[in-house]
Amino acid sequence: MNALDAALWLAARGFSVFPADHPGLERCAGVGRNHDPGTCQDRGKHPAVAFTRTHSTDPEQLRRWFNSTPRNIGVAVGACRGSDGARLLVVDSDRPAALEETAASHGHRHTPTMRVTTAKGHHDYYWVPASMRLGNGLGALRGKFDGDVRAGNAYVIAAGSVHATGVLYELDDPERPPAKAPGWLLTALQSPPEHSPVVAAPCGSRAGGRLVGLIRFVLQSQAGERNNRLYWAARRAFEQQAGPDANVASALLEAATQAGLTEGEARQTITSAYRSRAAR
Ligand SMILES: [Zn+2]
Repeated sequence: MNALDAALWLAARGFSVFPADHPGLERCAGVGRNHDPGTCQDRGKHPAVAFTRTHSTDPEQLRRWFNSTPRNIGVAVGACRGSDGARLLVVDSDRPAALEETAASHGHRHTPTMRVTTAKGHHDYYWVPASMRLGNGLGALRGKFDGDVRAGNAYVIAAGSVHATGVLYELDDPERPPAKAPGWLLTALQSPPEHSPVVAAPCGSRAGGRLVGLIRFVLQSQAGERNNRLYWAARRAFEQQAGPDANVASALLEAATQAGLTEGEARQTITSAYRSRAAR
């Protein structure tokens, strides 16, 4: 299936899509204030439009986007609605069977659903009740699931796209629509992480005031600049610390997932910011 056919297939099923970078292009087609297309190292994943506002299910629009230049397909997760206004949740497993193992560790079987095979694992698409507001945080699954979740102000690269390694994103079974998310999963995502220190910025102190400013800076990031802003803020935050501070890292992680990064991405960026500081 080519990208246009795949986009039309998704749109016909209520998934609002947008064009993203294609790894075959010479330069990244991604947009964003702090994103440099010339030096981008994460090809095939970046939205080519401001996806939180610009996404569509209109076949004419999709033809304009996907008929000429090579584009990958992004699904605007927060814009998709199932029956009764259900919201979309995509569980991104970093390896095959990661979600199956997490389900088993909670005493449940994995709930089969619309599944896309990715370069590393799977994307499982689930519907979540309309009243439930999830983000990109893993909740109680933090440290217990090899992957990430996407909900709300977030996107995933869809079936019909090409990964930078050349692997195709493919539907396992085109006949299978998203299932309702299982209760154990929703409960876990809405529960606080275990052993995670409560974020308590020492308000009133000068360092606390600076941390709050840095957190706000991360919260206000747009797609395409989130990693850069998080990295910058983490460097500044760690410069003020004598040693690794779990509270600071945890506050940055919360802000970054609220801004739309996944926990995996955010943790990687915070860790490299800490290492670069430690290396000096
Ligand atoms: Zn890019």
